Amino acid sequence: MTLRMYNTLTRKKEEFVPLEPGKVKMYVCGPTVYNYIHIGNGRPVIFFDVVRRFLESQNYEVTYITNFTDVDDKMIRKAEEMAVTVPELAETFIAAFLEDIQTLGVHEATMNPRVTDNIQEIIEFIAALVEKGYAYEARGDVYYRTTKFAEYGKLSHQNLEELQYGIRIEVDDRKENPQDFVLWKAAKPGEIYWDSPWGQGRPGWHIECSAMVRKYLGETIDIHGGGQDLTFPHHECEIAQTEAVTGHPMANYWLHNAFLNIDNEKMSKSLGNGILIRDLVKQIKPEVFRFFMLSAHYRNPLNFSDESLKQAANALERIQNANDNLKHRLATASATGEIEAAHTERVAAIAAQFVEKMNDDFNTPDAITAVFDLVAEANLYLQQERVNAAALQMFLDQLQVFDQTLGILSKQADELLDEEIEQLIVDRTEARKSKNWVRADEIRDLLTEKGIFLEDTPQGIRWRRK
Ligand code: AMP
Ligand code: ZN
Repeated sequence: MTLRMYNTLTRKKEEFVPLEPGKVKMYVCGPTVYNYIHIGNGRPVIFFDVVRRFLESQNYEVTYITNFTDVDDKMIRKAEEMAVTVPELAETFIAAFLEDIQTLGVHEATMNPRVTDNIQEIIEFIAALVEKGYAYEARGDVYYRTTKFAEYGKLSHQNLEELQYGIRIEVDDRKENPQDFVLWKAAKPGEIYWDSPWGQGRPGWHIECSAMVRKYLGETIDIHGGGQDLTFPHHECEIAQTEAVTGHPMANYWLHNAFLNIDNEKMSKSLGNGILIRDLVKQIKPEVFRFFMLSAHYRNPLNFSDESLKQAANALERIQNANDNLKHRLATASATGEIEAAHTERVAAIAAQFVEKMNDDFNTPDAITAVFDLVAEANLYLQQERVNAAALQMFLDQLQVFDQTLGILSKQADELLDEEIEQLIVDRTEARKSKNWVRADEIRDLLTEKGIFLEDTPQGIRWRRK
């Protein structure tokens, strides 16, 4: 079973061959930190987290870098509006972003570099482009000379002529060509700036990723990701910048997620239909949102509606219930012994199915079908009168393995229900009567571990939670 992924650059599913065996260098473009993230932004955040988790489950050592754009026009405007400085604005929304993605169960990135911590590297990158003739200065701005990079358009599969059609003709006499893009912007009076060989200014948007990828990961990386809208111009420009300077491919695999729509409409500021992640998680469990995101293939558009969320909640509940039932049954199961081979084989087959689906361009909806196959198998097993602790544990362990990739099971501490505690106390009393000290101790330990304390009173055993 080999991992294959759809590469936007070649428009094909390709076998994944890492630059270095067992290691993956991965970069995903992060947010401009001028507001709270909305549910659409949640799609790349969750999908690429799952890619990373899956790679790790396959024993790859993943270096996962995602940046913060903490200075640009939008940041400057918003800071003015809020009467704060650009760095203050960035601090607020970086903290909010990290909090939101943590709520969504996203694993921490290896590093979250910021533009403002990399200005020197960015200036050096631009200087190298100027020196090689790929960039030119014009009244304090620096632009990329797109006509010089013969492969400009290769990622979005357009040629320069086509691109010229698409561009709104702006009156900008500083550019040699309308499709040239800005690398360095001269500061207007009062704006945040850094000194550079071209005067006081700040970086354009695209250059930061070229500079940070090279600095933190190297000249060529394995996987570069982001939302579909980043293909052009952002990633096209990143390629033009990096490959002009290094002469090597910037990334071997370019992955782009499709968009999330709301009630079959594009989410947009003008429609006012954006929903913030932090508002959503007041209404629904973050795990339901994750499950919903993963219920569609990442390259297909996904529609957010009350109905689709309800479906996700119901489906996830079936998985969660199976997980809880297995745990509760295990807590009271005393029968031990060999697991029947039929069960072991079936679980192994389902596990292989999951990996095969994920290996096929991260087909999460089909991988989730494998999770349901396991749930069905576990439910069937739970109907038996006598269950084997080792078999219950095997089902639970397999669900955990799936969840290491998907992150959809509830993170709440498992609590014993009152009836379960009472049943355990009865079992313990029985065990003591029959001098089964091992079982009696086992139950006492389990209760202690769950924070339940027992007290012998003249009226019998009382219990309380810590
Ligand atoms: P932005 O804040 O627009 O720069 O977007 C940050 C990230 O979220 C980028 O990777 C975008 O492609 C992605 N993104 C923005 N809106 C959506 C959406 N509605 N659906 C999926 N991804 C989105
Ligand atoms: Zn980028």
